[in-house]
This record gives sequence, C-alpha cells and structure tokens, in this order.
Amino acid sequence: MKSIKSKIIVFSVLATLIPSLGLGVLSFQQNETMIGENVTRELRALAHYASRELDLWIKEQTLAARELATSRMLIDGLSIEKQAQKNKQPAQQQALNLYLKSVHKHLDTVLELTVIDASGNFVASNVDSPVFSTLASDWAEQVTAQGEMVLPPHWNAQHAAAILSISVPVLSADDFVLGALIVTFDMRNIQPNLKDKVKSPPGDVLLLDSLGYVMLTSGVSASDSRQPMLLDTDTVKKLLKNPGGYEVFFNPQQEKIAGLAYMSEKIPVTIIANKSHKSIYDAWQQQRNLFIGLICVILLLVTFTAFRMSHTIVIALQRLIDATQKIVNGDLNVTLTHSQSDEIGQLTRMFNQMTDRLRQNQVEISAASTAMQKKNRQLAQLSVTDGLTGLYNRNKLNAIIVDQLARYKRNKRAFGVLMIDIDHFKTLNDGFGHVMGDEIIVAVAKKISQSIRSIDFAARYGGDEFVIILAESSVADAVRTAERIRKKVAAVRCGAEESAFQVTLSIGAIQSEPGDSSLTILLSRVDGALYEAKRAGRDQVFSIKPQETV
Ligand code: GH3
Ligand code: MG
Repeated sequence: MKSIKSKIIVFSVLATLIPSLGLGVLSFQQNETMIGENVTRELRALAHYASRELDLWIKEQTLAARELATSRMLIDGLSIEKQAQKNKQPAQQQALNLYLKSVHKHLDTVLELTVIDASGNFVASNVDSPVFSTLASDWAEQVTAQGEMVLPPHWNAQHAAAILSISVPVLSADDFVLGALIVTFDMRNIQPNLKDKVKSPPGDVLLLDSLGYVMLTSGVSASDSRQPMLLDTDTVKKLLKNPGGYEVFFNPQQEKIAGLAYMSEKIPVTIIANKSHKSIYDAWQQQRNLFIGLICVILLLVTFTAFRMSHTIVIALQRLIDATQKIVNGDLNVTLTHSQSDEIGQLTRMFNQMTDRLRQNQVEISAASTAMQKKNRQLAQLSVTDGLTGLYNRNKLNAIIVDQLARYKRNKRAFGVLMIDIDHFKTLNDGFGHVMGDEIIVAVAKKISQSIRSIDFAARYGGDEFVIILAESSVADAVRTAERIRKKVAAVRCGAEESAFQVTLSIGAIQSEPGDSSLTILLSRVDGALYEAKRAGRDQVFSIKPQETV
C-alpha cells in the first residue's frame, strides 16, 4: 500500500465498487420487494378464486344431494324401514341397496350413497363398507338447523381420492325427519375448476385437509398420485401462522415454491396458492447475474485503466528520481525526453531547463574559479616579488632566510650569503637620471639571476642592494659566485664610450654559522662583510671565514 500505483488502483476499485454495489443492492432490494408484493397479490387472487369455486361446488353438490333426498323410494324405504326394524325384515334394506346402486350408476361425481335412519344408524348403501355408516347422535339437530351437514373432506385410501361427504335429511310428506342421505363426492371433479381457465394465472392450488394432507392440486401430476401427499408440518404451521403472506418452501415433489395459505370459511380445508420459486425469481436472478457480470467487467476495465495510468505516472517519476540522483552524485549530463503535454511533461521540461541552467552555472563557476586561481597565483607571485627587478622582495627574503636557518640547524649543512651593493650609485643617478638608474638596477639583477643556480635565491634588499642565498654552499662557494657576478656586471656600462660609467659591485660573502640564531644576526654579519668591501676600495668581494668548522 506504500506505492503510488497501489494507492491509485485501490482508490479506483473502491470508487467503482462502493457506488455501483450500493445502487445495485438498493435497486435489487426494491425489485425483490416489488416482486414479493406482486407474488402476494397473484397468489391471493389464485387462493380466493379457488375458495370461491370450492364453495360453489359444495353448494352445487348440496343441491344435488337434496334433490336425491327427495326421492320417493328413499322416503318410502325409510318409512317402511321403521316398520321393518320392528318386524326385522331385511328384504326392505336390500331393496334400498339396489335402488342406491342403480341411482349411483347415473351419477359420475358420486362415490357413495348411504342412508341412515333417524337415530343415525346405518340402513343401506350402494357399497358394502361405506365411509360413513353412522353419524353423530346430534346429527339431526345440525341438519335441521343448517339444512345439511358437510362432513370434513379428507383423503380416502379406499377410493384413493379426496372425498367430501354431504349429509342431507330425508323428510316425510309432513316434514318429519325419517333419516339422512350421506352423499360422498369425488373431489377430483372440482380439480379443473380450481383455476380460472380463461385467465389461467400462473401457479397451482393445493387443498389440504385438517391433518395437513394434500388432498388435491390444480396440477395434473399431483392429482394422479395414488397416495396423499403430506406437506411438511413445519411448512404448514408457518403458512397458517402467516395467512395471506407468502412463504418459500418445498412441495412434496421437492420443488422450491413460494405459497400462501387461505382458510376456507365453510369447511376445514386449507387452500394453498403457490408458484414455482424459479419462475418468480428467474428474471430477477438473471438480472442480478448480469449486473454482477457487468460490475466485474467494469471493475476489470477500471483496474486496467488505473494500472496503466499509475504506471505512466510512476515510470515518469522513477525517471525523474533516477535523473535527480545522478545530479546529486555530481553528473549534470542528464536530459530527459518528454512527449506528454500533461503535468508530467511540464515537470520533465522544467527539470531539463533546471539541469541546463545548472550546467551553465557550473561552466561559469568553473571559468570564474580558474580565473580566480590564476589571479591568486599572480597575487602570490606579486606578494613575494620585487616590482622593478622580478627578484624576490625583502619579505620573501626574510622567509627564505628563516627557512634556511632552520634547515641548517637540522642538517648542519651551511648555506652561503652574498650582499651586493652597486658602487657610487648616487653619482649614476645624478649624472644619468633615475630612469637610467632603474635600468642599471634591472641589468644588474639580470646578471645576478644568470649567475646563480636554480636552487639559489636572489632578492632585492632595497635601493641598489641585493642579497643572494646559496643553498648548501660554503663561503668559498659564495666567493666564487660573487666573483662570477662581478665579472658579468663589468660588462654593464652606462653612457657614451669616453664618459661611460663603469658599473662595479661591492660584495660581502659569508656562510651560515652556528651563532646565526636569527636572520638579523646573519644579515648584520654579511652587511659587515659588505662594509669591509666598500671600505677596502669597492669593486671587490670581502668574505668572512667561518670561525669553526661545522
Ligand atoms: P656607495 O658606493 O657608498 O654605495 O655610494 P652610493 O652612491 O651608491 O651610495 P648608496 O648606496 O648609499 O646610495 C644609494 C642611492 O641609490 C641612493 C638613492 O638615491 C638611490 N636609489 C635608491 N633606490 C633607487 C631606485 O629605485 N632607483 C634609482 N634610480 N635610484 C635609487
Ligand atoms: Mg651603492
């Protein structure tokens, strides 16, 4: 997370993911709520329709049962039965059985026709073992109060079908209750009517008995089933707990469905309207998958773009860092190429301008430094040189003597000293002028320079005086050099031949001695030698022999 590149990529991914996922989740939640509301509406309509149809069907069957109960055969049969019971005549019962069988043949929707007497005891039936052969003792009151008694529908294994039995009273001509007719209907007959054929809304309807068995479904496959299908009890409980609200569960065929429960008001039947979960959420799931796919593609594009962008920035920055590092290391020969017109390109251009300026400055500084060094050298030279002759000046001479004395003290090897003075220089000055006097001083200095070794030092001591330091030389060596100088200077003349001024020199010569503890002592000794040369008549060398051999 430290590099700029990873920061840009993470930011881009988050900036894409957060809004798109937020909006997506919001939109899908709204869609889901909308789908839920639509499904609830559709399923409620389906359940209401089925409930209405069921009520209608029961009403129709009740009317049919009532009509059957008005049969003369039944009234007579039950009247006679009353007598027959007393007389124990089974022939009457058999006649009723035969009558019921013959009637049943003409009734497609009826499974059983059973007759009971006023006390609720079995009298006759079209089948040998009817589902209802007796009724509760209070049946007569119920039937009288309601006009009929609808018995709880349920799945019957004998008929392998859901059955509904309706009990209607058989009345005598003077409305006396003779007994009851129990008509058992095959509920499969209602199956085609459970759903609106015209509108044919998607979804199925299940009819559950009081025990939670699926007795009947609007679907074909379920009705063909030979066994009653038991719906998971938890599911039934869940559905009943929330009537009118839909739940998602698995049907007996283990298909995921969404359904809601509706309790029939007239009979203990639960109507469950349901739809395949897949059919409800297919489009929603397809949309969701498309959305996820789209987000993935966008994310890939954004990541790729962010990577390219950050790569461009990081590469350019790295080039600038490398170039700056070179400059830090003292290498100014750095020029970066730039093709971009953005901020990076601007920065690169400015960087190049900066390095150009630095290079120019460096050239100028280096030239100034060279000039300064030259000047310094000249100044150093001037500070030790005599302006007129180019020989060392007095200051430098002092430093040379101090140095030579120190060496002499260390290595005990003597050095020679000459003090030279031009004879009667005042006269020359007066006779030929100062300019000529200067020329003579320069000419003498030149002869001195030509007469000494490179390891020796010649200095102008002042006016027309010179001092020469002869490295590692004895007084004898010094005298030899002095004589050489004198001879050379003898050639220097001034003025016309007849009135020519012959330049001569008086020279004092000594060698260093252990007693020369300072330059003043040394110089006064050589000055003494010079004085002696002057005193002896000038144009000569006077030397002072060393007092003891070193
Ligand atoms: P002596 O033989 O005793 O040395 O006699 P001198 O005339 O040479 O006497 P001294 O050496 O004392 O005189 C030096 C003169 O040199 C005095 C001064 O006018 C002259 N002088 C000093 N410096 C310069 C200079 O730079 N140029 C010229 N032209 N003359 C100088
Ligand atoms: Mg002089």
